[in-house]
Amino acid sequence: MTIAPSPEALGLSMPQWEDLARRWSVPRYRGRQIFDALHRRGARSAAGIHEIPRELRDRLDLEMPIGLPAIVKSEESRDGSVKYGLALADGALIEAVYMPGDPAAAEVNEFEDARAVGEGFPPRVPSPVSRVPAPGKFTVCLSSQTGCAVDCAFCVTGRLGGGRNLTAGEIVGQLYAVLDAVGRKSDSARIVFMGMGEPFLNPDGVIGALDVLFEVIPRRRVTVSTSGITPAFARFAALPRRPNLAVSLNAADDETRSSIMPINRTYPLDGLIRAMRAWPVDPRRRITVEYVLIAGRNDTAQDAQRLVRLLDRIPAKVNLIPLNEDPTYLPGWKRPAEEVIDRFAATLSAGDVAVTVRRSRGPDAAAACGQLKGRTQDPRKAPRAP
Ligand code: SAH
Ligand code: SF4
Repeated sequence: MTIAPSPEALGLSMPQWEDLARRWSVPRYRGRQIFDALHRRGARSAAGIHEIPRELRDRLDLEMPIGLPAIVKSEESRDGSVKYGLALADGALIEAVYMPGDPAAAEVNEFEDARAVGEGFPPRVPSPVSRVPAPGKFTVCLSSQTGCAVDCAFCVTGRLGGGRNLTAGEIVGQLYAVLDAVGRKSDSARIVFMGMGEPFLNPDGVIGALDVLFEVIPRRRVTVSTSGITPAFARFAALPRRPNLAVSLNAADDETRSSIMPINRTYPLDGLIRAMRAWPVDPRRRITVEYVLIAGRNDTAQDAQRLVRLLDRIPAKVNLIPLNEDPTYLPGWKRPAEEVIDRFAATLSAGDVAVTVRRSRGPDAAAACGQLKGRTQDPRKAPRAP
């Protein structure tokens, strides 16, 4: 698939296609036919939309060319996940990750394995219900920007500096490029916005993409992760169709959090917690709290106890992510020892906080989601030591 001059067509929602049909003086249902062909049937070009007349196909080709980002690189891990480098129409590079199976179930199972073997786990572990991974399930981790201005100290994407926002069409195109590459269809996909960029700094692009994707993917299978851009919560919370929310907390007090996430100086914890409390959580669902464990920075028993107190009466589940090390871009930043990770999880469990641990099976595993950098780009910022 070549890079199209305009990827916008894939970002139009059903009502927007109907509106375009009206402006082009063709019946509204033609708009619906185009949407269905693209998003339900998987047409990838105007020529492939045989439901509509030839003249309309020609006009589409001319004025709304349909195209996907081009895959320029792929890297497969031992666990079957594949990381893709994609080029957008202007040459900007992003990354997306395909992960087979159900990572949520894998995390739970691995945590329970650890509990069975491990020491120091209290007998009472309110871990989430263990699910058997269904064979057909998979997750795609998507990027929302071409870099990230939020600049968290432990994140490789942050080393790229701020990038531009992806358009809705580029986000949908990114998903379809990955689906085509692995030969899967969107109807069994789970989606996480945990790739490059801060989704809450690109609400137009992300919400535009959700408007399209929610027509074909149930909203409960889509999770948007934010570093805590507090003012954007209300807009996402008010969506008629809301995605699941994940918040990258990474620390439970302002001082620690500001030292690894400078955004915390602008949007400190107390406002963030208020925004989380105001988030309308569906019955029997929870907000995912991501907590990257970094040796010597946020991994003490006291940090864990603070986190328990901070999450008091918030319907949250904590996903502990041992730091993905990167000696080149993050020299000196280390993940804690396994016992420290286990102890941290045990303290949360003892405090009645549901917890899972994302244990990657090696440096190249699916944990790469959340640490993407558009590999061929040179970071604009110097590597940073802790
Ligand atoms: N900007 C959004 C979404 C992308 S980052 C956010 O921050 O939530 C997705 C996740 O990857 C975040 O939870 C982030 O804390 C985590 N992450 C970033 N760098 C990491 C690293 N080096 N190792 C492990 N996880 C990392
Ligand atoms: Fe941006 Fe998220 Fe990385 Fe922070 S962790 S720099 S918000 S991508």
